[in-house]
Amino acid sequence: MLVSTKEMMAKAREGHYAVGQFNINNLEWTKAILLTAEELKSPVILGVSEGAGKYMCGYSTIVGMVNGMLENLKITVPVALHLDHGSYDAAKACIEAGFSSVMFDGSHYPIEENLAKTTELINICNEKGLSLEAEVGAIGGEEDGVVGGGECADPAECKQIADLGVTMLAAGIGNIHGKYPANWPGLRFDVLEAIKNTTGDMPLVLHGGTGIPADMIKRAIDLGVCKINVNTKCQIAFTEATRKYIEEGKDLVGKGFDPRKVLAPGVEAIKATVREKMELFGSVGKA
Ligand SMILES: [Zn+2]
Repeated sequence: MLVSTKEMMAKAREGHYAVGQFNINNLEWTKAILLTAEELKSPVILGVSEGAGKYMCGYSTIVGMVNGMLENLKITVPVALHLDHGSYDAAKACIEAGFSSVMFDGSHYPIEENLAKTTELINICNEKGLSLEAEVGAIGGEEDGVVGGGECADPAECKQIADLGVTMLAAGIGNIHGKYPANWPGLRFDVLEAIKNTTGDMPLVLHGGTGIPADMIKRAIDLGVCKINVNTKCQIAFTEATRKYIEEGKDLVGKGFDPRKVLAPGVEAIKATVREKMELFGSVGKA
C-alpha cells in the first residue's frame, strides 16, 4: 500500500539520512526502482512530473500500475507516489487519482498567492492523510521545458511556508535540475543554514540531485535535507546502456530484437544508479 512521506521524513530527520525521490517514466523505470528499494530495504519516493503523467496516459494509469507492482512484486518497504513540481490543478488531480503525496510548486507566484494556494492544498492533504511538498525560490535548470537560473530562497519566506504545516520544503540553494555546468559554484550552505535556522525541524528537499558531489550531499543532509530528488542520472544511465546494446549489434543476434531484451540493460543501469544514490543518501536498511 502506498504511504505518505510523513513518517519517512520524520525518521530521516532523526536518523540523519535522506530518502531518494526517483522519477519514473514507464513500467521498466518503476520496476527497477521498486526492486532496488526492496532489495536494499530502503524507503523510496516515486516522482511523477506532469509531463511524465501525460506520457504514461494519466495519473490513474500510474496509480494502477504502481499499486499492482506493490502487490505482485511483494514490496514491503514504504513507498510514496509523489507529484513532482505540480501546478495547483495537477495536485488536485493526483490527490483524486490516488497519489499519496504531492508537490505544489507555487514558487513562481507572488509569496501571498503561494501561501494561499499552499494552505488550501495542505487542508485537503491533511484530511486525506497525504503529504505535501512546497517550494520557495525557483530551482534552476530545466523543468519540463522551463529553464530557470538557480536563485536562492529567502529564509523568511521559507519560514512563512513551513509554518503553514507543509510536510517538507524545497528551497533553492543554488541547485539546478539536469546536468550541472562545469563552472557551477556549488551549493550555498550559508543559505541552507539560514533556512534551517528559521524553519527548525522542517524536512528540507534538495532538487537536482544528479550532479552534486558526494561531500556536498552529505553536508546538505547534516544541515537538514531529508529528501533528495534524482531524475537525470537515471535517464543518462538508461540511455547509455541502451545505446551500448544497439551499438554492439546485440539486437541483430537471435531474438535480440525482443523489446524485453532491448530494455533489460537499461533497467539494470537504473538499478545500479538507484543503489548508488541510496547508499550515498544513507537510506539503506532504514525501511
Ligand atoms: Zn525539482
